[in-house]
Amino acid sequence: MDKKLVCPCGLTCCDCLFYKNEIFATAKKLKELISANDLDLFLRGNSIKNSWKAVAEHMMLSEEQEWEEIGQHFDIFKDMPLFMNILDGIVKVQCKATCQETGGCSLGGKSHVCQISKCVKSKEYNGCWQCDEFENCDKLNFVKERYGYVIEENLRTAKEKGVEQVCSHGNRYYIWQRKKYGDV
Ligand code: SF4
Ligand code: SF4
Repeated sequence: MDKKLVCPCGLTCCDCLFYKNEIFATAKKLKELISANDLDLFLRGNSIKNSWKAVAEHMMLSEEQEWEEIGQHFDIFKDMPLFMNILDGIVKVQCKATCQETGGCSLGGKSHVCQISKCVKSKEYNGCWQCDEFENCDKLNFVKERYGYVIEENLRTAKEKGVEQVCSHGNRYYIWQRKKYGDV
């Protein structure tokens, strides 16, 4: 892969959920479309019981039918303001530049230098794969605990074959993803 996508610690930005631009662009577009059409106000207004009940009565539904066929579909929109805030939150948490580009992870829009980036920079390396200590280095524990074998595998590949030979792990990147798919 492009070497700018391989972080000094062995993380791969192309697999990182903070870097999935399509998700963040879609959330932004959805928020804009809902706001521009006042769909949030409309749905929230219809979530009020006397509003959807009036619709049900207009449709001549029985008391048994009104919740089943109308009420339950509108009730959830009571939480529309929360949904709009969550869309905002999703947009803001995006990482738009890789660690190799900025010197740190930029989730939330600001680059943060971690102890690994700092150490790698102090040794004038591009990544831990250039260091003899990566298999036993305590600074890597944080990422190894969350990504498991992926970190050592990526670092070993970069060391032995070159950083461009590091491969994406797709949706088997985080330990919790591999657990979800029964791979751990
Ligand atoms: S630099 Fe951004 S995309 Fe890369 S691992 Fe860090 S948060 Fe994820
Ligand atoms: S000591 Fe080596 S392996 Fe550990 S963080 Fe620094 S460069 Fe990476």
